[in-house]
Amino acid sequence: MSVNLLRPYTSSAVRPQARYGIITALRGAGSMNTERGRRSVAALAATLALAAVGATRSAPQTLPHVHLLATGGTISGGEQPLDAAGLKALIPEVSQVATVTLEDVTRIGSSRMTPEIQFRLATRITELFAADAELAGIVVTHGTDTLEETAFLVDLLVKDERPVVFAAAQRPPRETDTDGPRNLLNAFRIAASPSVRAAGAMVTLNDEIHAARDVRKTHAIAVEAFQSPWAGPLGYVDGSRVVLKRRPAVRVTIPAAAIEPKVDLITLTAGSDGHLIQAAVDSGAKGLVVEVFGRGNVPPAVMDTVKAARARGVAVVFTTRTRGGRVEIDETAHGIGVVSGGALDGLKARMLLIAALGAKADGATIQKWIDQL
Ligand code: ASP
Repeated sequence: MSVNLLRPYTSSAVRPQARYGIITALRGAGSMNTERGRRSVAALAATLALAAVGATRSAPQTLPHVHLLATGGTISGGEQPLDAAGLKALIPEVSQVATVTLEDVTRIGSSRMTPEIQFRLATRITELFAADAELAGIVVTHGTDTLEETAFLVDLLVKDERPVVFAAAQRPPRETDTDGPRNLLNAFRIAASPSVRAAGAMVTLNDEIHAARDVRKTHAIAVEAFQSPWAGPLGYVDGSRVVLKRRPAVRVTIPAAAIEPKVDLITLTAGSDGHLIQAAVDSGAKGLVVEVFGRGNVPPAVMDTVKAARARGVAVVFTTRTRGGRVEIDETAHGIGVVSGGALDGLKARMLLIAALGAKADGATIQKWIDQL
């Protein structure tokens, strides 16, 4: 099936009161010409009167409104992917958790995700929150392959404190032991929970809640593939309970009205001589993230190409290829304006640079943002 990645939103959003029967109930009571119709009206009036009495005792129970943005991935089934409505149909129990509205952003395997689609998603989330003060939270379904990149960009770009929860799956819905429906229902539970405000964008699989800032896909097939190495999960879902054990100490949000997608990530290996850096610059990269050795070691030949890249105005961030701990940049790198990626891994630093260059931030500002993370 061919999918036009850049087609406009195909929104199937439906206002909650229409979906959940208020309008239908009133229509059903409208046939006053019949005895049955009159009885219906009388019954409805009695129900409303009882409801009014009840309302004086306790506030009416309304479920939180959560909006689902579907983007594709294994959670929606691979070959013939489910749309947002199909995903909701997998979890009938959600009717006890939230009032759900639906929207399809795209329907792709996430290996085909691009910074442009990621930015469009983040922009849409900001719009949705701005348009509806009553919206409790947003669930995004996404493939696992690039989930950590999209979730982190959304974390950086969406300022609103209401939860954005990404759900994904390692096993498609057609498999008997699929993890998708459970992860999706958990995502609704988290997004509907008032306790998770101001925790940034989150990712849930395998009953765990991870911060977008820390999470990483660490295994190709395991259902426990999503981990937050050196940080741990934010919390977990236990049945219908959402338990948040910690909250990210700081949130960094970047005021970017655009992005700069031409940012490449290059990992140094034994024998690296800088030709990949040169090739990236020659093909038009505006930013480069280089995963360097250990605490920040860079062979001289590589440093020469970094200098040349800087001389051509390319923004350069160093991270450590160990994917744990803080990189340190030396005097030479500092002197030519290389930014330290701090404790960010290369994938995360790349998303930050995509947003920061889109915001036209200078090196000092980019460094200030990274140092807080
Ligand atoms: N190919 C899938 C993707 O869209 C893998 C997955 O979702 O687990 O990333």
